[in-house]
Amino acid sequence: MKKVLVANRGEIALRVMRSLREMGISSVAVYSEADRLAPFVQYADEAILLGPPPSAQSYLLGEKIIEEALKLGVEGIHPGYGFLSENADFATKVEAAGITFIGPSPHSITIMGSKLAAKAAVASYDIPMVPGIDRAVEDPKEAIEVANKIGYPILIKASAGGGGKGMRVVERAEDLEEQMKLAVSEAESSFGDGSVFVEKYIGAPRHIEIQILADQHGNTVHLFERECSIQRRHQKVIEEAPSAVLDDKLRAEMGQAAIRVAESCKYHGAGTVEFLLDENKNFFFLEMNTRLQVEHPVTEMITGVDLVREQINVARGEKLAFRQEDLKIKGHAMEVRVYAEDPCNNFLPDIGKLERYVRPQGPGVRVDDGFEEGMDIPIYYDPMIAKLVTFADDRILAIDRMKRAIQEYKITGIETTLAFAAWVMDHPLFRSADIDTNFIKKHFKPEMLQNEKEDEIRLAAFLSQHLLEKKTAMVDSASSANKRRSNWKSRKA
Ligand code: ADP
Ligand code: ADP
Ligand code: MG
Repeated sequence: MKKVLVANRGEIALRVMRSLREMGISSVAVYSEADRLAPFVQYADEAILLGPPPSAQSYLLGEKIIEEALKLGVEGIHPGYGFLSENADFATKVEAAGITFIGPSPHSITIMGSKLAAKAAVASYDIPMVPGIDRAVEDPKEAIEVANKIGYPILIKASAGGGGKGMRVVERAEDLEEQMKLAVSEAESSFGDGSVFVEKYIGAPRHIEIQILADQHGNTVHLFERECSIQRRHQKVIEEAPSAVLDDKLRAEMGQAAIRVAESCKYHGAGTVEFLLDENKNFFFLEMNTRLQVEHPVTEMITGVDLVREQINVARGEKLAFRQEDLKIKGHAMEVRVYAEDPCNNFLPDIGKLERYVRPQGPGVRVDDGFEEGMDIPIYYDPMIAKLVTFADDRILAIDRMKRAIQEYKITGIETTLAFAAWVMDHPLFRSADIDTNFIKKHFKPEMLQNEKEDEIRLAAFLSQHLLEKKTAMVDSASSANKRRSNWKSRKA
């Protein structure tokens, strides 16, 4: 493979191109009018304008992307995450055009793209599942029957859901019918598929996911777990690897279960099998994501494996270069998603201009980002600015390193989730790894950040006061030196 087109934008496009360059493969960027000046466009060896900013007129134009790829003699297309990455139709068309899709087969994407089809596929593979119903429910009466059996609270979930969207918790039977109606119409409008099902709502679970890699010769390995329990709106904001609560035995069990999930759909490439872990350390299969995950860097840090390089090796038909027993966990990695969001206003997007943008540096710090100072965060896409990753020998060192890195990160012009992440890093429950997916809901109140912000303002005020005093002192001593000098002069004179 000599030339690969990256059908994505922002930090992940840049991340993929970096591996391409290391492998001596030239890169083609596709971009929208909103991204003309973006670093990934500058970085690419060639770049093609797709169209206006809205995704439907640019990043989602699969056929146009394939056309441009053919014109440029592209041999592979990497879809990143989001956009076309889990679109089986796109993968099929790429392959039909004689281009390698750097990802799993359309068959695997189709099965795992539907949470219900996924449950059906793994049914005979001895995978623990959340209690509930494993087919679409249309009649609220049926849903009520299921709910009575498994007990409240329950969760109504969209089969085609993703990105934390399309889920509704129901606490009482009398709310079920109404919530179900809302869930169906939400699923129809967001995913074009109104199928919903019912699951037991697990009270205080941890989100633990397993990274897997499989080649096209029947070899599948897992690259251990990531813990992603710090979530808002059912979507991850802080991730780490390894998880503080898995011992070697549970790690191996979950790893083997993830491998079986991958085998159930004849998977090849990099993929992630997500589980919930309850308070008694029972784990349950949630879903499989058939793409590179946002939080893949923490796995790269603790295993030393470049997941994008492996995706490309697998796509071009190579065998995995390592076996399960060759993989070892080294150290601890922590990732903070830096969003252009205001944590004090329900984490709503706060887009605008990056007036000041200074990245942290130094030992054990990795920043995967897609912006430069002076750029605008476009309103059309996911408001993630960067992923800040730290790596150290153990968890507490990685946390303290994260606090230091957050302090060094200077972003002005918009609100970000950085101060919130600093608050998490300082929280005693987080530090002792006593967390679950309700952490933010249970423990975070915007006023707590006001304190951090006031601390910051007080510190800034103190420093400027201190500087002022120092300057005054310098002026004073200068003038007294002048006086002395003038005295001396006068004496001399
Ligand atoms: P991960 O599991 O890799 O952390 P996320 O759930 O955060 O993935 O989603 C990754 C990216 O894909 C984000 O940009 C998110 O907005 C987008 N995304 C994922 N699924 C969907 C979906 N069904 N609809 C819209 N966007 C989605
Ligand atoms: P998505 O496709 O949106 O990523 P997931 O099924 O992976 O959907 O779930 C996302 C998050 O929603 C989980 O990490 C967890 O926090 C919450 N969640 C999903 N299913 C359940 C459940 N049965 N009980 C409790 N929380 C759940
Ligand atoms: Mg998920």
